[in-house]
Amino acid sequence: MAKIYSDRLVNAHNMVHAAYAGKYAIGHFNTNNLEWTKAILGAAQKTNTPVIIATSEGAMKYMGGAKTVVAMVNALMEQMDITVPVALHLDHGQTVESAKECILAGYSSVMFDGSHYSFEDNFKMTKEVVEFAAQYEVSVEAEIGTIGGEEDGVIGKGELGDPAEARKIVDLKVDFLAAGIGNIHGPYPAGWEGLAFEQLDLIEKEINFPMVMHGGSGVPQEQVKKAISLGISKINVNTELQLAFQKATRAYIEKGADQDMVKKGFDPRKLLKPGTDAIEAEIENLVTWFGSKGKANEIKK
Ligand SMILES: [Zn+2]
Repeated sequence: MAKIYSDRLVNAHNMVHAAYAGKYAIGHFNTNNLEWTKAILGAAQKTNTPVIIATSEGAMKYMGGAKTVVAMVNALMEQMDITVPVALHLDHGQTVESAKECILAGYSSVMFDGSHYSFEDNFKMTKEVVEFAAQYEVSVEAEIGTIGGEEDGVIGKGELGDPAEARKIVDLKVDFLAAGIGNIHGPYPAGWEGLAFEQLDLIEKEINFPMVMHGGSGVPQEQVKKAISLGISKINVNTELQLAFQKATRAYIEKGADQDMVKKGFDPRKLLKPGTDAIEAEIENLVTWFGSKGKANEIKK
């Protein structure tokens, strides 16, 4: 069997492993709609940056399903002349079935998040996803420990990842691994203790393998840099883009621009533009300090 995803896409293995070797991180940006997708692709192309464009199961359903997402991303890549490496990734696939569904629909990368199961079940299901994905050249992210906060209705307490469990999952031949390291989905609450660097260091020493930081929004820059130095090679950003969009949209409305009947400020193409531009600017900013900016030509396709 051969790959199903289009030749425009790549899986995320080479880009994340290049980042691991080069001590930087690839940005994983969650999309929610057409505007988000255009902003992510546009920022990546403009800055010559490899990128992962991701959907949660919830966002995927919101957009109409996996096939709609695949069609939208591929068509935009064609019509925007996107030439930088782009992986289309399922974020937090909750079941083996949803990972398989995305692979068959044309995603080039999937996360199977079995962190809400026992380790034994997580291991078994991750193995099944890896074996299935390998037939189609799709990269796989797995998770050990849990990430704090809420994502698609699943509440994680934020248990730190265990190095021995990390080793076992890596040996299944996953492509990169998410581990609970004190990180949280959504905005970081006041009193957050910061990333658990000692645990990250223990895991990294055990596996010497690229790891993923979820909840990348709002982690202070110094902590991100330190995490990258300890093996974090993919950083997931969702909330930060939502906040950038919200802030710019609010400013547009608060100045009354949407009520300008002469300029037709109510036109959705105008109403959504400041937010879309803000997402693009935020991505350019983030990939600069993740270190992946301008690295497109260094990735083997
Ligand atoms: Zn996550």
